[in-house]
Amino acid sequence: MDLSVSDDLKLLADGVRSFVEQELQPHEALVERLDAVPDELFREIQQKALAAGFYAMNMPEEHGGAGLTSPERAVCEIEFGRVSRALGVICNRPAPILKACVGDQIETYLKPTIRGERWECFALTEPGAGSDARAITTKAVKDGDDYVINGTKQFITMAMRADYIIVFAVTGMDETPRGPQKRITAFLVDKDTPGIGVTPLDVLSNRGMKSCIITFDNVRVPARNILGGEGNGFGIAKNWIFSGRVMLAANCVGLAERAMKMAAEWANTRVAFGKKIGQFQGTSFKLADMAMEIHATKLMVMDGAYKMQAGTITQREASQINLFGSEMVGRVTDNALQILGGMGVTKDLPLERFWRDARVERIWEGTSEIHRDIISKDVLREFPA
Ligand SMILES: Cc1cc2nc3c(=O)[nH]c(=O)nc-3n(C[C@H](O)[C@H](O)[C@H](O)COP(=O)(O)OP(=O)(O)OC[C@H]3O[C@@H](n4cnc5c(N)ncnc54)[C@H](O)[C@@H]3O)c2cc1C
Repeated sequence: MDLSVSDDLKLLADGVRSFVEQELQPHEALVERLDAVPDELFREIQQKALAAGFYAMNMPEEHGGAGLTSPERAVCEIEFGRVSRALGVICNRPAPILKACVGDQIETYLKPTIRGERWECFALTEPGAGSDARAITTKAVKDGDDYVINGTKQFITMAMRADYIIVFAVTGMDETPRGPQKRITAFLVDKDTPGIGVTPLDVLSNRGMKSCIITFDNVRVPARNILGGEGNGFGIAKNWIFSGRVMLAANCVGLAERAMKMAAEWANTRVAFGKKIGQFQGTSFKLADMAMEIHATKLMVMDGAYKMQAGTITQREASQINLFGSEMVGRVTDNALQILGGMGVTKDLPLERFWRDARVERIWEGTSEIHRDIISKDVLREFPA
């Protein structure tokens, strides 16, 4: 299989990289300090991204998106990995699950979101249900033409900025060959609907993105706001889960390359015991490992992206890519920080932020343990006794 990046892909990536370096990176320190993107800055970046064609690139062309292929998305995602996620996410969005919009939902939610007029957040996780997503207890009970939602969601990224929420709730029980199973349905819920409360959390990684708790207290939603059909919440989520995992690893490549560049420049400058520290094997071998692991992740990402495009990627492959990329960026940012010594942990340089931001990658799109579980079960299936 040819995993090379064509000239066209390189051209696209170069355009995104210039945008990231010129329009996004200069604001990183401010966002970090405020733990927020000021509204004015947010709108300015959004307008520039729309004008440059770097907004909602993953969305279908017929609804106003750029309709990028998976390999195109992967090379763009690598570039967006070179900036703090709070800034990258202003352009690099929305949630692909919105492609499940039908009928009026297209005009009311999908198209305005692609035009940058509306903003969604994705609410599945709850205080009692993270990895075990089927354990959610948020309920939506049918009442005439509406559903009434009650429950609590946790860690919902960008919920402060969002004006509508993609909420997963239990709408009943189904008998299945494996016994009774919760019927889980996704709803599009306007955030100004009475009964919704949003409280921001203070988290280690990705300052400015704001993960939140959202409470639903008798929130009334019309049945026409069901996304993907009643009981099909996980069905539509699954369609895009693999892409989320591959794109996470792509983002990790961008962040890791930025950390490696800083570490290499430092190793070529900083002198100790009369030598540039890059001449000590303890430093130079770390750089070698970084370069090798970043390259391996890139190949895995492109392999996954071409397979996604062909519709042949498997759950195991998506988990392998996610797991390798997220652990790679942890090692790279940690070693880069070590190469900078004391300067690595100061707030004067962005490296301590890279290190903090890298940490959540092993948790939020499936934990490392869950990915190992998926991969190992498949290996055991592949080689029965
Ligand atoms: C910053 C941040 C942003 C997020 N944004 C969103 C969002 O926008 N929307 C959303 O819906 N969710 C979001 N999440 C939630 C995220 O998807 C969950 O954190 C993740 O799925 C893990 O769930 P948990 O945190 O409840 O951990 P748990 O599931 O409670 O896991 C705790 C520990 O137990 C281990 N564990 C659990 N089950 C197993 C098993 N079977 N085998 C081995 N080990 C196991 C885990 O690996 C982990 O180490 C976000 C999370 C974070 C931290």
